Amino acid sequence: MSEPGLVAERLLRVIDEGQRTATYKLALILALLDASASLADANGKAPQRLHTRVVAEQVVRLYLPQVRSYLGADAEDGPLRQISSGKSVTLRAVLALHLAAGGATTLEAARSRAPGELERCLDEVELNFARFPVLRLQVLGGVPLPFLYDVDWTENVSLGRLHAPGGGSIRFRDGASDQLVQLASLVRPLVEVHWVRQVARWNGIDVESEQLRRHLFGADRVAFPAWLRGSLAEVQDGRCFYCAEPLPAAAQVDHVLPWSRFPNDAVENLVLADSRCNASKRDFLVGIDHLSTWVRRNRCDLGATTAAATERGWPTDPDRSAALMRAGYAHLPEGTPLWIGRNRVAAEDLVAVRSVLAFDRPG
Ligand SMILES: [Zn+2]
Repeated sequence: MSEPGLVAERLLRVIDEGQRTATYKLALILALLDASASLADANGKAPQRLHTRVVAEQVVRLYLPQVRSYLGADAEDGPLRQISSGKSVTLRAVLALHLAAGGATTLEAARSRAPGELERCLDEVELNFARFPVLRLQVLGGVPLPFLYDVDWTENVSLGRLHAPGGGSIRFRDGASDQLVQLASLVRPLVEVHWVRQVARWNGIDVESEQLRRHLFGADRVAFPAWLRGSLAEVQDGRCFYCAEPLPAAAQVDHVLPWSRFPNDAVENLVLADSRCNASKRDFLVGIDHLSTWVRRNRCDLGATTAAATERGWPTDPDRSAALMRAGYAHLPEGTPLWIGRNRVAAEDLVAVRSVLAFDRPG
């Protein structure tokens, strides 16, 4: 069992590293975190190994919205630099995918519009990440100090080798993937702060730019289309998901699992709420009643919405959404306040709360 304190301390050192030359290591940390959470088992436990392909998918998820043109007054229009000098293989591949898929900002949209280009992009990102960030993340001060995972390849690894049976396996040290998920609410905002700071520097943008932060990481970087709002409103009978009062015209789309914990725009994670509930809920996880309603809705009532989402290339993934939610609750300490209604929080029995989510991934 790797010591919890050790993983946290080393991670903070990697994130805080002085002379960074690209955002890849930061992307890798978030990719490992998101991949681990999205594969959480029935008890919310993170997997003990990840394939490089899965990590590459998460990396592409992160960069796809980031390569769209930055239309700030403080920088030239176009994709932002994510590397201090030279050209970025990864960013070039993701930009090519973004353009080939008609400006897609989600993996799902890219998959439905340009599946061939997506596979090419994943090949490049997978190989590039396996060769460099994966091997270098745990080198601190020039010394290899594995604290999260072990791999059995070197910089000259080929895609064929990664895809061969038993290849491409990132093996977490005992308990390290769970610790990573447990640290999510600390690690993610810290990574984002450093990421924004680096990109600001390389692009000559004010470090404090709120617009830059939103461009890179904001929940509102993708607009919610009218068909999605309409479909959710129908599922909810025109009522707020949380308080059941009639929805105002300006109903807000809320991420049930807060975006700041595990970003997930899949329809399964979206509900409509009035502004008062939405403002009160903020980044809280919801209590058992809302959680039960959410599970029931996703199982029974979301058919038309997921069909519409599939048709339009909007993310829909019940398994991933459920796994992320389980990961979100898996490591909460007893006594954590959960949001149970407008301006009301309570510490609930977490064993009971988790049991609502404890079901196996189908298939
Ligand atoms: Zn409400």
